[in-house]
Amino acid sequence: MSLDVLLVDDSAVVRKVLLRALRQAEFPVGSVHEAGDGVEALAQLHAHHVDLILCDINMPNMDGLEFLRHLRAEPVLKSLPVVLVSRESSQAVVLEALRLGAAGYVRIPFTPEQIKSKLLSVVSTQDPADN
Ligand SMILES: [Mg+2]
Repeated sequence: MSLDVLLVDDSAVVRKVLLRALRQAEFPVGSVHEAGDGVEALAQLHAHHVDLILCDINMPNMDGLEFLRHLRAEPVLKSLPVVLVSRESSQAVVLEALRLGAAGYVRIPFTPEQIKSKLLSVVSTQDPADN
């Protein structure tokens, strides 16, 4: 089993670090798609199959919270798991993201094992009926 992932972050370096961490932790990565903000992320989701989204919070054009709002408004996409990966540490912002349906939050800096265990816990709690 492998999972198709969408990496959403306005920093190409962070996207690269994320992918390297997933591979290093031997997370079962399938196809990898990337987006620099929420607008690009929605476009990628309309163009490709994605199982799991890793998303920054602070981004230009459409930030992570706004992206979550858009995602939840789309019946086909609303059950996709989104794990936030961000330097943002404001509890209010993180709680708002969780309220908007984010499946989890990983704070930068992270270790490959932290990312992997968070993603695996999110994927394993997915209701198969949702897919
Ligand atoms: Mg950012």
